Amino acid sequence: MPSESKEKLNPFHIAQQQLDEAAEVLKLDAGMHELLRWPIRELTVTLPVKMDDGTTKVFRGFRVQYNDARGPTKGGLRFHPDETIDTVRALAAWMTWKCAVVDIPLGGSKGGIICNPKEMSQGELERLSRAYIRQVGRIIGLEMDVPAPDVYTNPQIMAWMADEFAFLKGYNEFGVITGKPIPMGGSAGRGDATARGGIFTLREAGKVLGIDLKGATTAIQGYGNAGSFGHALGDELLGLKIVAVSDSRGGIYTEDGLDCEKVVAHKKKTGSVIGFPGAKDITNEELLELDVTVLMPAALENVITAENAENIKAKISVELANGPTTPEADQILHKNGVYVIPDFLCNAGGVTVSYFEMVQNAYDYYWPLDLVHERLDAKMTAAFHTVHDAAQKHKAHNRLAAYLVAVERVAEVVRLRGWA
Ligand code: NAD
Repeated sequence: MPSESKEKLNPFHIAQQQLDEAAEVLKLDAGMHELLRWPIRELTVTLPVKMDDGTTKVFRGFRVQYNDARGPTKGGLRFHPDETIDTVRALAAWMTWKCAVVDIPLGGSKGGIICNPKEMSQGELERLSRAYIRQVGRIIGLEMDVPAPDVYTNPQIMAWMADEFAFLKGYNEFGVITGKPIPMGGSAGRGDATARGGIFTLREAGKVLGIDLKGATTAIQGYGNAGSFGHALGDELLGLKIVAVSDSRGGIYTEDGLDCEKVVAHKKKTGSVIGFPGAKDITNEELLELDVTVLMPAALENVITAENAENIKAKISVELANGPTTPEADQILHKNGVYVIPDFLCNAGGVTVSYFEMVQNAYDYYWPLDLVHERLDAKMTAAFHTVHDAAQKHKAHNRLAAYLVAVERVAEVVRLRGWA
């Protein structure tokens, strides 16, 4: 087995490596391949923010627009202490393939600010959010590039950003950002859309694999937007039995199954899922290797690597997180028969409902929740089967199949536009 130290863990190198594999199968010509390996546009910004103690702290931020052949670019914004330009580039590339795989008329982008939001007050976060928009405002907009929430950003942050953008423009353009609170132009159903879309793909995977998911044991890594709604909806829509969940401080396990509302209330009260009454505390590493039917990585990148992939016992990996599995780990999971629902297919529900939000903002006409759910289900189900069929046809693992579908869709428009 390759040693961990030799495995490349730079997310952008991984994204390029994944594309290279697809380019070879699709026989993309050299110019097209090179164009799709790099972001079209990047902006790095320096953000001075007045802190509550009167000092000025200077933050670094990024916005990367990867490819806009199919439409305006779209991608979330992260606040994270370990953010790097290469992580943002990787996530922007994955957004491009994600919008293409669910066939929505958008390109891909991503943003990030290097900061630790857990150590900042609400006032400091607001000033940081507004400072970011003052800098990136010149390259975003409903017809250019549309941010959304991601790790450690939320609807309140989106609201401050939409408000700052309205000041820059002189009028409200709510469609500049998605994941807004509903009274400010948000869409019904955006809150849990990422997890709901992932659960729809898991439902379809259960059908094609002939696995009965009712009562299927499940472990979830990460307990934020994606993971906690993954718990609630996995339970509500499929009757999964969630036996383990975790967050950045550690995990909990009980073979009897965890009640979502009680775990959410415990995390709200104590700041973490750990110490939940009646459950055993476990590490994040232990959670990944549990003997369960379904594993949902819903935290950060590179958690399933060459080092632990052999120990993954789950039958299906539902990748709500972006980039949780390295290319070497992918090969190992495929060899061991683990059915991976790859990230940019599995978690595309978020951007799909964000796209619905943009459409509603453009028309100032809002859809009822059941219509959002119905249209999301149709998009996710169609995308799942397109990828599953491509995997069968090319005898490829699901991630490569998803790349084949998405890259060909982007390449087709690049050719039509005469770029390559
Ligand atoms: P979030 O900020 O709401 O939650 C992140 C969760 O991950 C928190 O519970 C945190 O404690 C946990 N976490 C952080 N570091 C961890 C670690 N080292 N080990 C275990 N847990 C850790 O973020 P989110 O929006 O739920 O995003 C989670 C993943 O889903 C990310 O990869 C993100 O890119 C992806 N995603 C999110 C959306 C969305 O709409 N929110 C859409 C598509 C993909």
